[in-house]
Amino acid sequence: METNWWEKEPVRFECEPDCFKCCTKPGVVYMDRKDVRDAAEYLQLSQKLFKSEFLKKEHDMWYIDVQEGNPCPFLTFEGCAIHEAKPAQCRTYPFWRENMETPQHWELTAGFCPGINKGSLQLPKVIKKAFDLFKF
Ligand code: SF4
Ligand code: SF4
Repeated sequence: METNWWEKEPVRFECEPDCFKCCTKPGVVYMDRKDVRDAAEYLQLSQKLFKSEFLKKEHDMWYIDVQEGNPCPFLTFEGCAIHEAKPAQCRTYPFWRENMETPQHWELTAGFCPGINKGSLQLPKVIKKAFDLFKF
């Protein structure tokens, strides 16, 4: 099997405190069944109420709809209100397959995320685990 570039040249990453750029960027945050169950339980809401209050659905996929000027509803001044139970998509950023495809993809992502290329080296097993957690 071919070795990934980030196994040969490990990358650095450390999330910058009080940045929250990735929680305000317009887009979608997908939530699978486990994500929904964990977040609803964390907020002590029924899954039905959690979905109707916070999520949208398309093609059987539930997601948080983040729009321009309207950040994720769980973002507070202190950070993510569901940090301990946040979706896999959030937990695994920036180690998404699309960002790790080539060094150029990684550098492009670094143009958005100020935590990239800073902090400690990220072992390949950390990135592989992120790929396992978030498969989109
Ligand atoms: S954009 Fe990067 S540094 Fe900023 S909050 Fe997101 S992961 Fe952390
Ligand atoms: S769930 Fe939390 S980490 Fe994910 S986008 Fe919303 S505020 Fe950010």
